[in-house]
Amino acid sequence: MVEVGDKLVGYATDDEVRKRGASGGLVTAVLAAALEKGLVESVVVLKHVDEYEAVPIITDDVEEVLASTGSMHSVPAMLAKYAVDRKVAMPGKPCDIRAVIEQSKRNMIDLDSTYLIGLNCGGTMPPVLTKKMLIEMYDIDPEDVVGEDIEKGKLIYRTKDGNEKAISIEELEEAGFGRRNNCQYCQLKIPVNSDLACGNWGTLLKRDVLRLRLPVIRP
Ligand SMILES: Cc1cc2nc3c(=O)[nH]c(=O)nc-3n(C[C@H](O)[C@H](O)[C@H](O)COP(=O)(O)OP(=O)(O)OC[C@H]3O[C@@H](n4cnc5c(N)ncnc54)[C@H](O)[C@@H]3O)c2cc1C
Ligand code: SF4
Repeated sequence: MVEVGDKLVGYATDDEVRKRGASGGLVTAVLAAALEKGLVESVVVLKHVDEYEAVPIITDDVEEVLASTGSMHSVPAMLAKYAVDRKVAMPGKPCDIRAVIEQSKRNMIDLDSTYLIGLNCGGTMPPVLTKKMLIEMYDIDPEDVVGEDIEKGKLIYRTKDGNEKAISIEELEEAGFGRRNNCQYCQLKIPVNSDLACGNWGTLLKRDVLRLRLPVIRP
C-alpha cells in the first residue's frame, strides 16, 4: 500500500511513451490514465511546435496526451489559468502549481477536482537567447536539436546526427545565457505542493525512469 510521503521509481508500460518521455513517460501515462478512467474530463498538456515553442492545450483526446511527452526547457509557459472552472489533471512546474493554489484561494479553481502532477524544475530559459547560446556556446545549429536534458548541473543538447554536448549551467550563466533570472533564485525546485512530485533527481538509471514522490500534503 502506497502512503503519502512515499518515494517510488517508475516508468510508462508503453515502450514508445517510455522512450519519448523526459524520464520514462510516467507523467504522460498518469495523465492518459486519468482521462481513460474518467477521473477527469480533460487534461492540460503542452503541444509541441518545435524544440523552442509549445502551446498549452486542454484536451480529452488520449492520443494528444500521449503525443505530449518530453520536457520543454525553453518554453516559459504558465499553465495555471487552464485549470480555471474545469475538472482537469495537469502537469506543472512548482511555479505552475503554486499559481493554481493561489487561484484556488480566490475560488477560481477547485482543488478537489484538480489533479496536479508536479515536475521537479531546475529552471526554464528564454527561447531566443537559447538559440543564440546554442550557436555561440555549443556550436550547434538550433534547428539540428532533437532533445535536451539537465543532468548533474549540466545542460545537454542532442542533435539529429546522434551526438550530444553538455556544458555546465554555471558556465552558461557566467556567459549571460542559461536560466531566466527568476529561475536562478527560485526556492521551490521540488513541487511538494502538488499531488505527485516527479523528476529524475536521485534516480540511478538514466532518462527512462522517473522518481515519484507523494508529497506530504498540499495546502
Ligand atoms: C522546465 C523543466 C525543467 C526540469 N528540470 C528538472 C531537473 O532539473 N531535475 C529533475 O529531476 N527533473 C526536472 N524536470 C522534470 C523532468 O524533466 C520530467 O518532466 C519528469 O521527470 C517527468 O518525466 P516523464 O518522462 O514522466 O514526463 P513525460 O511523460 O515526458 O511528460 C512531461 C509532461 O510535462 C509537460 N511539460 C513539458 N514541458 C513543460 C513546461 N515547460 N511546463 C509545464 N509542463 C511541461 C508535458 O506537457 C508533459 O505532459 C524538469 C521539467 C521541466 C518542464
Ligand atoms: S525554476 Fe522555479 S520559477 Fe523557474 S520555471 Fe522552475 S519552478 Fe518556475
